[in-house]
Amino acid sequence: MYVIGTAGHVDHGKSTLVEALTGINPDRLAEEQRREMTIDLGFAWLALPSGKIVSIVDVPGHERFIKNMLAGAGGIDAALLVIAADEGIMPQTAEHLHILDLLGVEHGLVVLTKRDLVDDEWLELVAEEVRERLAGTTLKGARQVAVSARTGAGLDELKQALDGLLAKTPTRTVERGVPRLPVDRVFTVGGFGTVVTGTLLDGPLALGDELSVEPDGLRARVRGLQTHGQKVERALPGTRVAVNISGLPVDAIRRGDVVTFPGTLQPAEMVDLKLRLVADAPRALEQNDALDLFVGAAEAGCHVTLLSSDELAPGGEGWVQLRLERPLAVARGDRCIVRIPSPSLTIGGGRIVDAHPRRHRRFRPEVIKALETLERGTPAELLAQAAGEDGPIEWSRLRERSGIAATDAQAALDEALRTGQLRRLDLAGDGATVAADTLLIAQSAWTRLAGLIDATLAAFHKRSPLRAGMPREELKSKSGLRSPRAFNEVLQLLEHEGTVAAGEQSVRLPDFAPKLTGTQRATVDRLLRDFAAAPFSPPARQEWEAAGADLTGYLIESGQLVRVSPDVLFSHEGYTKLVEWTQRRLDEGGEVTVATLRDQFATSRKYALAFLEHLDERKITRRVGDVRVKY
Ligand code: GDP
Repeated sequence: MYVIGTAGHVDHGKSTLVEALTGINPDRLAEEQRREMTIDLGFAWLALPSGKIVSIVDVPGHERFIKNMLAGAGGIDAALLVIAADEGIMPQTAEHLHILDLLGVEHGLVVLTKRDLVDDEWLELVAEEVRERLAGTTLKGARQVAVSARTGAGLDELKQALDGLLAKTPTRTVERGVPRLPVDRVFTVGGFGTVVTGTLLDGPLALGDELSVEPDGLRARVRGLQTHGQKVERALPGTRVAVNISGLPVDAIRRGDVVTFPGTLQPAEMVDLKLRLVADAPRALEQNDALDLFVGAAEAGCHVTLLSSDELAPGGEGWVQLRLERPLAVARGDRCIVRIPSPSLTIGGGRIVDAHPRRHRRFRPEVIKALETLERGTPAELLAQAAGEDGPIEWSRLRERSGIAATDAQAALDEALRTGQLRRLDLAGDGATVAADTLLIAQSAWTRLAGLIDATLAAFHKRSPLRAGMPREELKSKSGLRSPRAFNEVLQLLEHEGTVAAGEQSVRLPDFAPKLTGTQRATVDRLLRDFAAAPFSPPARQEWEAAGADLTGYLIESGQLVRVSPDVLFSHEGYTKLVEWTQRRLDEGGEVTVATLRDQFATSRKYALAFLEHLDERKITRRVGDVRVKY
């Protein structure tokens, strides 16, 4: 699923376009949400010719646009820059383009709207102007499509163009760690309580998850989840979600808060970043200037410390520390925008490299050097990178491979585990000490591995619907995990998470149970009747073989028949009676022979012998000459 944001000057036809594409009027969503019982997400979606589903976020209002563009680390996959063909580039067009550029949005289309109002010659002039303006931005060379919502002209071409664009756009539905949901709306829905919406980042969110709302650290729980108006049990990162939260009143949460797991996100009071100023900023930035910082769906006033220069000129770039007027729930790596308060204007942006810095002194080469190192990655990130896409790796080997200093290793590991970039396979819990041979795995590799095992088991169940589960060895070889220890720990963890049910011999999906067809049921019933009719002289091999290996295998695996030798099966009941009688006799100090057993149960020598040999194997009896005694 992709999230697309619309950008462009007011009245250039954004809402009309979204409605023409999706049939959903974004302006009416707020009202619908109040009326409907379902949780509405406040955004529209459509299926493209390829079948891809895209969400279109069209937020009216300029400030809201900026926050929306920012929701998370560039919360959109691609942008639609909407420009009315009759007016061309206007001030907000230019500013939105700056923002897309500062946020590093590389995928986008230009939509020239109101095609019906201009002639071909005019359209070509506007297209040329736009081409020139895009040059030197992240959207350079973006395709332009002219449409008219009034006549419908160009809409099909636009959908095709979106498909073409998204085919080249990587999805962000990758799991990198703990989920974060920058809240862009909070409201109540009658009978449900508090609902928040946003674009989910970094990790999946599931029903029942324990939550905290930052920066205030309030505790809550996921009571309901929706994406696209559909109830789901688990939402994936990269998608628009609505979360019904239990435990908090609506006024406890504000737009800009971040919903995440408790203890994983510490609010920032200062942030360090390399700030880039737009080339047409009205003036240079000076030490201690007041700015407005926008990160995710949040906003805060701040003051700037220029760390390596007296001023930052338009078009320039430099390291800064921003001192926030109130704590914000932001994380390293988040993209941000800064605006000057008056005239209120976007002047720059960048990517946060440290969300919990110390207060820096200016003009210190060692500070700049440390920031430049940090730009390449924190020790925790370097660990997660080193773990990479490979399977589980022992802590001692990972530490070596990452090349991080021994003194940083423990803190880096704690951080990587806390933020979910790495996970440990043993069930010791995140707080427990990690030993040199503790197995660790990068979150992304874990997601892939868990997905592979899930798919392998699903395919197995489909292929062998009567088997209780996939043999462990077979699953192990499919999983690509060579080490038995790693495989066992992976299974234990998956079982702990409730994604598989692992038995001694086989593994299955938790909700799978063998299911017989009508004819199979009839055959099984007939066979079991035959076994029940003569529990101690059960049907001969050719009789049950005629029912098929699948069905007898199923009856044995499910314990309804017991195999004592390749040729002899007993019903569960018959077998139990034989065992009980033999054991009682042995307990009373007696012996058992083939003949006594045969006479007692009026069976044949063949069955009595097979049964007693089976008891020898099970170490219940021991053979001494012609008699069996207690083992
Ligand atoms: P937004 O502020 O960018 O969301 O713009 P709207 O979608 O509200 O459109 C602004 C105005 O332009 C409305 O009066 C629309 O009816 C009109 N409009 C939108 N698209 C077209 C179009 O393709 N042709 C014409 N002639 N008018 C349009």
